[in-house]
Amino acid sequence: MAVAVRPAPEEIQAAKPFAPLDIAIDRCKGCRLCIDVCPKHVLALDESFVNGLGYHPVRLTDPDGCTSCALCARICPDAVYTVYARPKAV
Ligand code: SF4
Ligand code: SF4
Repeated sequence: MAVAVRPAPEEIQAAKPFAPLDIAIDRCKGCRLCIDVCPKHVLALDESFVNGLGYHPVRLTDPDGCTSCALCARICPDAVYTVYARPKAV
């Protein structure tokens, strides 16, 4: 699946810390494919929460560690991720 890394909307660029991912946790099935592929090891399942599908959804554990490489978005079978490019000034 082709995945585009998008420019972040202004409100996301201004957020501190910058949020490189928008994660649609309601669609996550907890399969862990994204966790295994992330080269920075900044994804984990949120075991404190169960979504409407009955799964622990993924969460970003370290926004500063994410490089917006989009490997997670490319491997996810459920189109959970929107990836934003990190602004140069951040
Ligand atoms: S964009 Fe890359 S670094 Fe960030 S969470 Fe996804 S796979 Fe990891
Ligand atoms: S690959 Fe997609 S469905 Fe699987 S755990 Fe990651 S975000 Fe959830």
